[in-house]
Amino acid sequence: MTNLKYLQGYPPDLLQPVAALLEQGRLGAAVRQRYPEAHGVRTDGALYEYVAELKARHMRSAGPIAKVIYDNRLHIIRNALGTHTAVSRVQGGKLKAKREIRIASLFKDAPAPFLKMIVVHELAHLKQPDHDRAFYALCTHMEPAYHQLEFDTRLWLTALELEGDAGLKPA
Ligand SMILES: [Zn+2]
Repeated sequence: MTNLKYLQGYPPDLLQPVAALLEQGRLGAAVRQRYPEAHGVRTDGALYEYVAELKARHMRSAGPIAKVIYDNRLHIIRNALGTHTAVSRVQGGKLKAKREIRIASLFKDAPAPFLKMIVVHELAHLKQPDHDRAFYALCTHMEPAYHQLEFDTRLWLTALELEGDAGLKPA
């Protein structure tokens, strides 16, 4: 099968049709057809508001987030699903962890549901550091379609890389 590095761990019967679409060069088009809706979250400020709104609705008890930005240095392969760092800083003799959420800049042009998926993913990490059962329970609490959206986001990333980004932006 071709290069499906974003889709490792998914069962072959799910990946079979993906490989077929890729062979025809139609994976991106297929994703775009199912997710035509763009989003208007274009700036770091807008992204901060978007994250804060979701956090207020679902994760009120989690600690504050110091910084939320689009990061165009995030490597598409290693960090496609964002990063979640606790940056340790010494403040007044105390070590404090500042939470930051960085979203790969390519999500500016993602369909709206994919931006929500990645933000939900990063918010869930505020409480659950690992990709375990508790983590995904939190994700699906915030977004019931989380698993489908993560899979489809991986399809989108695969298409972006293997078919190029021409026409991948939602209308
Ligand atoms: Zn993660």
